[in-house]
Amino acid sequence: MDIQEKLKILADSAKYDVSCSSSGSNRKHKSGGIGSTAVSGICHSWTDDGRCISLLKILYTNDCVYDCAYCVNRITNDIPRASFTPKEVADLTINFYKRNYIEGLFLSSAITRNPDHTMEGLTEVVRILREDYRFNGYIHLKGIPGADELLIAKAGLYVDRMSVNIELPSSEGLKLLAPQKKKENILKPMGLINRKIIQTIDEKKQFKKVSSFVPAGQSTQLIVGATADHDYKILQLTEGLYHKFNLKRVYYSAYVPVVQHPKLPEMINPPTIREHRLYQADWLLRFYGFSAEELLTEAQPNFDHELDPKITWALRNIHLFPIEINRADYEMLLRIPGIGVKSAQRIIAARKLAPISYDGLKKIGVVLKRTKFFVTCQGKYYGGIDVKEGLIRQSLLYKPVKRSTPSWQSHQLSFFTDLMPYNHN
Ligand code: SF4
Repeated sequence: MDIQEKLKILADSAKYDVSCSSSGSNRKHKSGGIGSTAVSGICHSWTDDGRCISLLKILYTNDCVYDCAYCVNRITNDIPRASFTPKEVADLTINFYKRNYIEGLFLSSAITRNPDHTMEGLTEVVRILREDYRFNGYIHLKGIPGADELLIAKAGLYVDRMSVNIELPSSEGLKLLAPQKKKENILKPMGLINRKIIQTIDEKKQFKKVSSFVPAGQSTQLIVGATADHDYKILQLTEGLYHKFNLKRVYYSAYVPVVQHPKLPEMINPPTIREHRLYQADWLLRFYGFSAEELLTEAQPNFDHELDPKITWALRNIHLFPIEINRADYEMLLRIPGIGVKSAQRIIAARKLAPISYDGLKKIGVVLKRTKFFVTCQGKYYGGIDVKEGLIRQSLLYKPVKRSTPSWQSHQLSFFTDLMPYNHN
């Protein structure tokens, strides 16, 4: 099979992995080397379904010995199979890079033969790129669950980011849909990568020359909707991953029903709204000081599809509102719908000089159509309705009906338009 054919198969097989953000690494161009990365991340573009495409995103092989029900590459699925050699992947990366097609590599893999054999191949790819070709561009590599720790540790010395995908958010889900995968085999490499990252940071404080280890951190991906796991469970898992393993990102991927299997849920459209709400909640965990328990509960385990998680939290805690914008502390400002991190900082800075007025809030960048229901400004409430959960919810969801132009009017307009001889512009 020629390289073109392999590339077609293995690029197609990789498209369901969304954990490929390329930001967070900083490596300058070295003379005699090829490529560089920048602090703000490599520019990346997105396909219309939201997948990152700026990196060469391929599988090392799709010839999998595992049988995960939801996956196109599972052993029992009849699809064309292909495998690269390490040198082929390295050559492709360099050639694409030199042609300016890509800014880096995102390399994942199915399990060929066994986890160690697969990880050896992946590690050899990145070794060739860094050592033989002196490639300095961005590399995101998959850590293969169950692979020897020494292999993961070696690969980590060559790459910017590593991700070990959890895929299914519970042990029960794994047992049902990916019986060869074990929770412990996924968490173990995550723990190792985290320890090595911390160790490297510590060593860098003491010694001048220390090799980098996964400088852009680690990430993972969770599939949403392939199992019965609700949003609360997914968010609790996310929170645990951020705390325990210092993950840079958790990516959520709405389950796309691409293959048939009796154990898979019947679904026509991927649950993209759940994916979207989880990303919003993830943001609240990382930057707004929320915990999973505040956003969801056992009694309300799924996000509201109509309103975002911050508004839902505010409505559930309506007894805390309205809040006087000129007195609330920073943490509380962050919890007001329509106020983001930047506007909360601006409010704190501005009110040191003078009390903030309602008009002043607008200038600061606050989204008043949401915020007005939850605040007072110099003692005055501008929401226009009682501060009651149901009323505010109704107002936030209200969408004025757009009046369409009556047909007689549109005819008349076109009639006049036809009569206009000149365009005066
Ligand atoms: S290990 Fe499972 S999810 Fe990964 S490629 Fe193989 S079948 Fe697909």
